[in-house]
Amino acid sequence: APYRIADVHELLDSTLLMLSGKIGRRITVVKEYDRTLPAVPAYPAELNQVWTNLIDNAVSAMDDAGGEGTLTVRTALDRDQVLVEFRDTGPGVPPEIRDRIFEPFFTTKPVGQGTGLGLDISWRIVVNKHHGSLEVHSSPGDTRFQVRLPLTAEES
Ligand code: ADP
Ligand code: MG
Repeated sequence: APYRIADVHELLDSTLLMLSGKIGRRITVVKEYDRTLPAVPAYPAELNQVWTNLIDNAVSAMDDAGGEGTLTVRTALDRDQVLVEFRDTGPGVPPEIRDRIFEPFFTTKPVGQGTGLGLDISWRIVVNKHHGSLEVHSSPGDTRFQVRLPLTAEES
């Protein structure tokens, strides 16, 4: 895929639209977009894969907790990086597994429902391919996965 400038909001909207069936009606989606954000150099198809993985995880977490909740997708400029944050109101990531969730094949989902690869793939796309960062901050009812993408391209 060619390295090109992507409009993160366009990518987020297309992923949200694609996942609208899975998100369903009981989950409220709130978009907190900073419309003044500059475009970032990115591989659009790969970033869509990251958004898909993070939204899928957020929705699954809320489904497990009764299927109601709010998914907030926020963007902001954070120094010289673009921040994309996925926040859910699900039960959260228990502290004892916090260090393992980015490992390949780590999953807490029943056999057949989770590959345990979503966060591993997301990590590789964000960190290795875009030289960005991927962090989680989680407590019950407030879980945030934060992607940061540098504004200046660094060819790899
Ligand atoms: P999978 O979704 O196939 O289980 P992932 O790599 O996407 O694999 O996620 C690994 C694990 O991280 C999940 O099984 C779950 O335990 C935890 N996790 C990821 N996102 C969330 C979230 N938003 N809320 C709670 N737990 C999460
Ligand atoms: Mg997943």
